[in-house]
Amino acid sequence: MAVLLFFAGDGFTAPLLRQEIVRVAIIKGGDGVRIDGDGLLATDEKGEPLRLTLPTQVKRAGGNLSVGGQTVSRLTVASPATIQVNGKRYRGTIEVEPSDKGVLVVNELPLEDYLVGLINCEISSQWPIESVKAQAVVARTYAVYQMRARAGAPYHLESSVLDQVYDGCEIEDSRAARGVRETAGEILTYGGQPIQAFYHSNCGGRTEVAENVWGVRLPYLRSVDCAYCATNPSIRWELAIPLKKLEVLLKGAGIQVSGLREIRDGKRNESGRLIDLTLVSSRGGVTISAVNFRKIVGYTAIKSTNFAVRPATDSVHFSGTGYGHGVGLCQWGAKQRASDGFSYREILAYYYPGALLGQLPGEQGVDAR
Ligand SMILES: [Zn+2]
Repeated sequence: MAVLLFFAGDGFTAPLLRQEIVRVAIIKGGDGVRIDGDGLLATDEKGEPLRLTLPTQVKRAGGNLSVGGQTVSRLTVASPATIQVNGKRYRGTIEVEPSDKGVLVVNELPLEDYLVGLINCEISSQWPIESVKAQAVVARTYAVYQMRARAGAPYHLESSVLDQVYDGCEIEDSRAARGVRETAGEILTYGGQPIQAFYHSNCGGRTEVAENVWGVRLPYLRSVDCAYCATNPSIRWELAIPLKKLEVLLKGAGIQVSGLREIRDGKRNESGRLIDLTLVSSRGGVTISAVNFRKIVGYTAIKSTNFAVRPATDSVHFSGTGYGHGVGLCQWGAKQRASDGFSYREILAYYYPGALLGQLPGEQGVDAR
C-alpha cells in the first residue's frame, strides 16, 4: 500500500521536509531592548522599511514602541546572519512589541536552528553523542507539541525552565549541530500525535508519573527505574531553611502558618517521592502537597519532591535526591546510558515506554525499541 501511494505521487521526488518555524519568547518585560547586528532589515507593523542607526534602543512608549525617533506598534528585524538583542546573538527574525509588562521580544526561527542553540543550555554537547541526540529528539518533540497547542498565541515557547532553556545561538557548536542533524525531523509520537516529551535534570533513582505532578495520566510517562543517574554523587542535596523564612514564603502564597514550629513529611507515592507535608504552627496543622510546597519555596531550593525533613534549631533541614519534576527523560541518566553504549533510540524507548520515533510532518514512525 505504501508503495502504491509512493508511485501515485510525483515519481521519485523525495518528499520535502516542511520547514517548521518556532516562535520563542526571549524577553518578557523591561522598558526596552538594544538591537544590533550587520545588514539588518527593520520593518514596521505594515511591513514598511525603517531606517535605523545601529545599535539602536527600542523603548516602549505607551501602547507603541519608540525606535530611533520613530513610533511604531511593532518592529520586525531580519538578518542574513545573526541579530544581537541586549548583546546576545539570535538567528532568524526578531519581533518586538509592547505588552502590559513592558516589551515582548519574540525570536522566530527554523525549529532545527533553535534546537542547535538549545542543546548547550539544557545539557553539554560534550556528553556522549547518543545522549545529545536523545536530547535533540525530546526537545524537538516538546517544541512541536507546544507549536500545535499554541498555534494562535503570540509565541509557542518560553526561553526559561518553564518550557526549555534557550539563550540564542551563542553556544552553538559542531557536536550540538551533529546531534540535531543526525536526528533531523525526528519526534516521538503516541497514537500518531507528538507526545508531551517532558524531561528533567536527574530523577534520583526512579522517574515519576505525570499524574503525580500535574494530575494527568499519560500512558508514555510511566515511572521507570533509573540507576543510571544515581552513579553521580551530586544527585544528593541538603538544605537548611530558617522557620521564619519558610513562614514568610508560605504566607506569601496565602497559607496561614503564623508561629510555624515544625514541618513533618507525610505520605510517599510509589516512586518514593513525598505526596504531602504537614505544617505545624500555633494555629494547628495544615497539610499541603509536596509539589505545591516545592513551587512555593522555589524549584532551585527544593530540587525535587524526593526529600526527608529533619527539625533543627529555629530551622528545618531538608535532604533529598534528584533535581526536577522527575517526569520523562532523566538527562543525567541518559548521559550514563549513552556512556554504557546504548543508542539514542534505546534511551528514548526506555524513558517513554510505548512511544514511537517518527518523522515530521506526522509520518508513521518506527518503533523506538
Ligand atoms: Zn535518573
